[in-house]
Amino acid sequence: MIQSPTIQAPAIQPQKTPDVLIIGAGVFGLWAARHAISAGRNVLVVDRGQVGGGASGGFLGALMPHMPDRWNAKIQFQFEALASLPEAVAALEEDTGMDCDYRRCGRLMPIRAESSIAEIERRIVGARENWGERFRLERIAPPLADRAPENWLNEAKAPAGAQHDDLSARLDPRAYLAALKAFVEANGTLCEGVEVVRLDEGGAVLADGSAMDAGEIVVAAGWQSYELLQPWIGELASAPGGPIGRGVKGQAVLVEFAHGDDLPIVCSDGSYIVPHTGNRIAIGSTARDDWDQADAFDPRDMGFYDRALELVPALRDAPIVERWANVRPRNMLKGIGHEPFMGPVPGHDWLSARIGGYRIGLAVGHVEEALRR
Ligand SMILES: Cc1cc2nc3c(=O)[nH]c(=O)nc-3n(C[C@H](O)[C@H](O)[C@H](O)COP(=O)(O)OP(=O)(O)OC[C@H]3O[C@@H](n4cnc5c(N)ncnc54)[C@H](O)[C@@H]3O)c2cc1C
Repeated sequence: MIQSPTIQAPAIQPQKTPDVLIIGAGVFGLWAARHAISAGRNVLVVDRGQVGGGASGGFLGALMPHMPDRWNAKIQFQFEALASLPEAVAALEEDTGMDCDYRRCGRLMPIRAESSIAEIERRIVGARENWGERFRLERIAPPLADRAPENWLNEAKAPAGAQHDDLSARLDPRAYLAALKAFVEANGTLCEGVEVVRLDEGGAVLADGSAMDAGEIVVAAGWQSYELLQPWIGELASAPGGPIGRGVKGQAVLVEFAHGDDLPIVCSDGSYIVPHTGNRIAIGSTARDDWDQADAFDPRDMGFYDRALELVPALRDAPIVERWANVRPRNMLKGIGHEPFMGPVPGHDWLSARIGGYRIGLAVGHVEEALRR
C-alpha cells in the first residue's frame, strides 16, 4: 500500500463544504479528483482504508486493447483511452516529479493452431482499419526466435506462430497511485481511514454517524460502490430487480527475473506475464465469484501461474517475491455491461459514479468523459 499518515474520521472538518466529495481513492477516485482540481474545484477524497488498498494497488499493470476486428463504441472508448494514456501519465509525472513506469512494451499471444490464422488475419485488417497508422497488429510466423525475444515465449506453445501488437503497454500501478496521491494531497484534501456507509440526498453518512454535505458526490469505491449506489441506480441493473454489479476476486504473483526491460507482455488462456523494471515480472490472474476475504491469497489457486510457466519456461526458477489478492468491480448495468461506469447518475444531479471495468481499469481511469450509452 502507499503509506501515509492515516487521518481518522474526527479529523475531517473541511473549512467549507467541498465542491466535490469523492468516495474511494483507487485509480478512478484519484483521477476524478485530479480532473475536478484541475477545473478549479475544492475537492475532498475519503477512503475507508488507504490509497492502494483496493484493486488498483496490485502489481500487474497490464494495459491491453480489446481485439480490433469486431469494433463497437465500447472498444473505441477503450482504444482512445489506451492511446491517450501516455500523455495523461506524462502530464502527471511532470506535475509531481514522480515516475509511473509506463512503457509501450507490446504483447505476444501464441497461436495454437493453423485453423486460427484466418481469425488473426481478420484482426490484422481490423487493426489497420480501426487503430490507424500509429499502432500495428501482426502475425509472427514460426520460428518465433527470428522476431520475438529468444527464450521468452515457448515455441512449443505457439506452433502456428504468435500475434503481436505494439499498442499494449504496462505501468507500475503503485507508482501511478503514488503520483496521483501526491497530486491530490498537494492540491486538495485526502483523508484515509474514513468510511462512507450511506448516501443521502446531496450528502454522505460516515461510519462514525456524522453527516457530510457536498456540492457533488462521486462514488469511486470499486466493487464496494454497488452497495452505496444500489438505492440510486438500481433501475439500471442489466437484469430487472437484480444487482448493479458484483466483486470478482483475483490474485497474482510477482517474481524476480533478470531482464533488460525490453520484453513484451505474453498472454494466453487467462494467464498474463507482464515485465516490469527492477527485474520484476508480474504474473496473473484468477477470477472467482465465490470468496470470503478480499485480500487473502489462496495458495491452492495457482493454475494461472502453472500455465504461465508453460508459456515462458525461463521463469521456472524465478523466485516469487510477492503474492497479492484483491477484488475488482464487475459492473452489471444496462447498456454498459462489464465496461467502466463513469458519469452522472440519471435523475440525481448531485451524484455521479466512476467504477472500473472488469479487465480494463488501469487503462481507462484517466478518461474524463463517460462512455456514451
Ligand atoms: C488480480 C487483479 C488483477 C488486475 N489486473 C489488471 C491489469 O493488469 N490491468 C488493468 O487495467 N486492470 C487490472 N485489474 C482491474 C483493476 O485493478 C480495476 O479495474 C481498477 O483498479 C479499479 O479501480 P477503482 O478505483 O474503481 O477501485 P479500487 O482500486 O478498488 O478503489 C476503490 C477504493 O474505494 C475504497 N472504498 C470502498 N468502499 C468505501 C467506502 N464505503 N467509503 C470509503 N472508501 C471506500 C477502497 O478502500 C478502495 O481504496 C486487476 C484486478 C485484479 C483484482
